[in-house]
Amino acid sequence: MTSRLETDVLIVGAGAAGLSAALHLPPGTGILVVDKGRMGQGSSPWAQGGVAAALGPGDSAELHAQDTARVAAGHGDPSAIAVLASEAVECVLELAELGCAFDRNPDGSLHLSREGGQSVPRNAHAGDATGSAIMKTLREHAIERVRRIEGVCLSLAVAEGRCHGAWVVAGGDLLEIRARSTVLATGGVGALYASTTNPAGATGDGLALAWEAGAALADLEFVQFHPTALAVGSSHQRLLLTEALRGAGAHVIDAEGRRFLFEHHSDGELAPRDVVARAVASRHSWLDCRHLGKDLLEKEFPTVVAGCRRHGLDPSTDLLPITFAAHYAVGGVTTDLDGRTSIPRLYA
Ligand SMILES: Cc1cc2nc3c(=O)[nH]c(=O)nc-3n(C[C@H](O)[C@H](O)[C@H](O)COP(=O)(O)OP(=O)(O)OC[C@H]3O[C@@H](n4cnc5c(N)ncnc54)[C@H](O)[C@@H]3O)c2cc1C
Repeated sequence: MTSRLETDVLIVGAGAAGLSAALHLPPGTGILVVDKGRMGQGSSPWAQGGVAAALGPGDSAELHAQDTARVAAGHGDPSAIAVLASEAVECVLELAELGCAFDRNPDGSLHLSREGGQSVPRNAHAGDATGSAIMKTLREHAIERVRRIEGVCLSLAVAEGRCHGAWVVAGGDLLEIRARSTVLATGGVGALYASTTNPAGATGDGLALAWEAGAALADLEFVQFHPTALAVGSSHQRLLLTEALRGAGAHVIDAEGRRFLFEHHSDGELAPRDVVARAVASRHSWLDCRHLGKDLLEKEFPTVVAGCRRHGLDPSTDLLPITFAAHYAVGGVTTDLDGRTSIPRLYA
């Protein structure tokens, strides 16, 4: 059966991007969110280490931008980096105000962890399950604002050079959803790779939908590989060992027990992610967390500890074999700094 629905704004994807977009639309806007639900969960609830924002002493949006430009090795767009670095603080504070349970210092300020490429600790986090805390907050607030349909977007509706909505399959029915504006927030592509940290839903649908509709795409060859995925089991889906472990002092070692990353970069374990990933790809490698101690690991990294235990490993006593795994799609649908794609009324 085919049905027709109308809305002001159609958002395809109910991860952090889709729900944040929904919460920032003016009151009174009709919002319909379509997501694959159990048929294809996105990455947001799985995010571990935290959100980078210049919130700490000695940090600034300028330093955040400088660090980002440096690790982008000349490929970053300075205007996009400036927006990212300057708006990140407000975004994190807004999430905290909405009730997101970020870890706090005894004085009430946000606790910040450090990850690769950062000059200073910069990651606001909720233990090592930051994505879960953020999604809980966003869902609690979005539930009153949006109508949600669990379904799969098959195609964008484009006529006379404009996007007018999308075609969605939901519960066996074909829905024609007409919208004044359509937002693609469909996440990444990791599940297409032989080794990934991403959930099964990260199949790059948004890229395919946009491409088929004639929208411009950019930089698809830039896929970030995370260097510390747990290398056990036969599944292509790997447990992520958050970079915050290295920020807390974990070492990457080779078969002789040597910390070899300093041969590749002066920042060693906290070198940019692509540098560490290439180094880890060059030899058998392990993450050594044993010296961090059982108490700290269980308190600050419960997701990692529980995940390792499911594989029969204990980070406080065992070396953790690691490999690189597809983690983050850097490229995507081409937009301006306000999310406008090359097709009017289609945003990403
Ligand atoms: C294990 C892991 C740890 C991470 N840790 C961090 C971290 O510490 N810090 C950090 O900044 N980032 C981290 N990331 C990256 C971060 O999680 C993602 O960049 C972010 O969550 C992406 O959000 P999103 O809303 O764009 O996409 P997603 O959260 O992936 O959501 C995509 C949505 O689109 C829907 N969808 C997709 N295709 C369709 C379709 N055809 N029809 C309908 N719906 C569709 C999905 O169902 C889903 O609802 C991590 C990622 C992983 C996998």
